[in-house]
Amino acid sequence: MGTIHLDDFQKQVSQLLIRHRSVLDVLSKSQEANARINRSITKAITECGCVEVVAKKQAYDPEKSLHENQPHLETHFHGPLCEHCKEVLTAELGKGLFYLAALCNITEIKLADVIKAECDKLNTLGVFNLS
Ligand SMILES: [Zn+2]
Repeated sequence: MGTIHLDDFQKQVSQLLIRHRSVLDVLSKSQEANARINRSITKAITECGCVEVVAKKQAYDPEKSLHENQPHLETHFHGPLCEHCKEVLTAELGKGLFYLAALCNITEIKLADVIKAECDKLNTLGVFNLS
């Protein structure tokens, strides 16, 4: 697959989103999509069992910097996802992106600008403000 242009993606979303055009529909659809993302990760853990959550308190040393602590901080997610669960989660993440792009369309914000602005912010702030 070649490079995907966000502008093209956003335009495609705008052309496809005919039935649920109201901002209220898109807001509730977007929330539903996020819930389905969470649900598909939960199902991978509790129904498929390909991944598990192994969690305890983070071993964070306040004497050290966040940067020094970073390698010891856990995601608590023990993977990898099996092919099926990965496929399901990928599809749900895609739906989430679809409604995010739809919200961008309605509010006349370019998705590419959102990502660009966030990248710039991350580059400026660095690792310390990602909490
Ligand atoms: Zn699985």
